[in-house]
Amino acid sequence: MVDERTKLDKLLGVRTAGNLAKHRDLVTVGDLLEFWPRRYLEHTSDLSDLHVGKYVVAVAEVKTAATRRPKSGRGEMLTVTITDGRNDVDLVFFKAWGHKDKLVPGVRAVFAGEVGIYGRRWQLAHPAYQLVEGDLGTSATDRGPIPVYLQVKGLQNWTVAECVRIVFDHLEDVPEPLPASLRRRHGLPGRLEALRGIHVPKAFPEVQRARQRLRYEEALVFQTLLAQRRARQAADRTTGRTPRAGGLLAAFDARLPFELTDGQKAVGATLAEELAKDVPMNRLLQGEVGSGKTVIALRAMLAAVDAGGQAALLAPTEVLAAQHHRSITTMLGDLAEGGLLGGSDIGTRVALLTGSQSTAARRDNLLQAASGDAGIVIGTHAIIQDKVQFQDLALVVVDEQHRFGVEQRDALREKGTQPPHVLVMTATPIPRTVTMTVFGDMETSTLAELPRGRSPIATHVVPAERRDWVQRTWERVAEEVRSGRQAYVVCPRIGDGDGGAGRARSAGSASADEEEIAESVFAPDDDGEGAAVAAPPREMASVHAVEATLRANPALAGLSIAVLHGRMPPEDKDAVMGAFTAGEVDVLVSTTVIEVGVDVPNATVMVVVDADRFGVSQLHQLRGRVGRGVHPGLCLLMTSSEAEASVERLEAVAGTNDGFELARLDLELRGTGDVLSGRQSGGGRSGRGMGRGSFRFLSLVRDEEIILQAREDAAELVAADPELTDHPELAKAVTERVDEEQAAFLDRG
Ligand code: ADP
Ligand code: MG
Repeated sequence: MVDERTKLDKLLGVRTAGNLAKHRDLVTVGDLLEFWPRRYLEHTSDLSDLHVGKYVVAVAEVKTAATRRPKSGRGEMLTVTITDGRNDVDLVFFKAWGHKDKLVPGVRAVFAGEVGIYGRRWQLAHPAYQLVEGDLGTSATDRGPIPVYLQVKGLQNWTVAECVRIVFDHLEDVPEPLPASLRRRHGLPGRLEALRGIHVPKAFPEVQRARQRLRYEEALVFQTLLAQRRARQAADRTTGRTPRAGGLLAAFDARLPFELTDGQKAVGATLAEELAKDVPMNRLLQGEVGSGKTVIALRAMLAAVDAGGQAALLAPTEVLAAQHHRSITTMLGDLAEGGLLGGSDIGTRVALLTGSQSTAARRDNLLQAASGDAGIVIGTHAIIQDKVQFQDLALVVVDEQHRFGVEQRDALREKGTQPPHVLVMTATPIPRTVTMTVFGDMETSTLAELPRGRSPIATHVVPAERRDWVQRTWERVAEEVRSGRQAYVVCPRIGDGDGGAGRARSAGSASADEEEIAESVFAPDDDGEGAAVAAPPREMASVHAVEATLRANPALAGLSIAVLHGRMPPEDKDAVMGAFTAGEVDVLVSTTVIEVGVDVPNATVMVVVDADRFGVSQLHQLRGRVGRGVHPGLCLLMTSSEAEASVERLEAVAGTNDGFELARLDLELRGTGDVLSGRQSGGGRSGRGMGRGSFRFLSLVRDEEIILQAREDAAELVAADPELTDHPELAKAVTERVDEEQAAFLDRG
């Protein structure tokens, strides 16, 4: 019995199977069936349209064949002329042996090779070929499109195709995860038929139909997984939290110096409603930088505290945790001094937990969390998740989701005796296909409008070869500083022996968690499919080099310049960030550490050096650091790249402030894998072994309709049959997908 789990070496022999396993990780029949052709070639179309260097695969007939002795050397060589009926091409084999008895006039074969020119005629020098049997009544030309597979070292393309055909010869059937009703409803072929359509199509429409079906299948399996998660979460129970009247929240609202926007009010109402329920909230709040998410989250935390519980705020970096702590204690004023002399008697305490704290401070804060004295506990993901005990954790707010996967959310829910309510906030606009997949187990809210009085950010591209523009850029920075503002200068690497010999990738070895995270999410020269970014091996500007240049620039004489990057000792980072916030530093030269959430309203200009090294969404995120106050923001994207694609990307960023549009563009440019999964195993090329949010066949850019449909269908299925008792094959496929995700997660460590 041959099925999807059968090992390929049983069918194909050890040598061929060995190559498939070694170079493409294809071990079982199922693996090979999921190794889709990259494209297809028509049999006969090629020979009329040739040019030197073109790689042709063509069916043709041997017209003439002759051996002769080369002028020098021994042995014989073979020259052959082949024809497709209209066009002739010469072949040459420098050793005739092994070919001359096969390639005789009248024989048909598929020939593959690179076109050269010899004696003013097209020539293929020892092309690969495979004879086509003409008996069986099938002439080569009506055999349908030739699938072209990703190169497998040691094997010709048709050997791979032949392997696939052998597999199909032995395979009786494959499991069918799609319920028959859905197949009928959408007119989709069965799984085996679809797999044949992909690998051995008779014509192109078959390929199309097969692809649709397999994409839909992948979407449905994933959406079913999500629907089941949602159903299980809905069955979870926790304590509903209703704030008491006249508590912290009321006091906070009364002293809020501005009025909430309509969007903020609406989201606030939704959160209050969900917190009051005994089903744990699981909500994603997205909103552009500066749209006022933090205030909303703080109000939810205060509601939880008023109801007698505690709230935790998790930030991705220490810099951000510290900043949240600063701004939240400031906003709360004496409300954050509960139990202290002079503090408000309805007040609470806000604890901060970071890795760089002194042991004593840490112990004190841990104690406040454990005793419940601190109603609000702020810290980095790592610390809060691993080390902190709470008295009664009611609500967890996760700031900046990109780095926070489903697995981490699960771990959180298991903290404490009952699952807390969870609110995840993200400033990176997320295309709908992504919220429906990567965040498909959560409800989502969006803050669409910015609070009034926010100034727009103007963005311009500065070509580095225009020395005058570059100098003008630094003068502009100086002008801002002279009128009392501050500036960011962002560089793609740290420099100073960071090992980053010009490649963003190599910074993966950096110990600084911020940069490492940023790299893995955004590394602009990721080799993902469809990545449009051709990164030439240029030396990237580093923080230290740029700092030195700026100090030497007379235009900036007298300005206070400081550097910030993830590899500085935490105390130094805090000190620099503190000084910048206090306005003591005019120009902050940094890496992407400042990317998320850093809030210094007085900073109005940002220069991104080697801007082409950053992703579209990342640039958008970065520039959100300026224009947070009443003064208009200015972002200058400096680049020495001449690659058209890079310049186009930068122009796109300069051309719009619509984060959703840019997120979509990013997705298109960089393919599905990277943008969303955050951490990718990098095993990408063969399309296997990817983590959550990565799909083999489904594209989050192209397949929005399929995803929508599958989501609807999955919800219907799970509502009617939560455990999928009537659909065992679908249930199995879902379990396998879960296992895969888990394995990928463990791999990533
Ligand atoms: P986000 O977290 O979405 O980036 P924040 O909550 O940090 O945004 O808000 C950015 C700034 O705008 C903060 O200084 C905040 O106090 C202010 N802000 C928030 N909501 C409003 C509002 N409705 N009106 C005016 N200012 C607001
Ligand atoms: Mg924020």
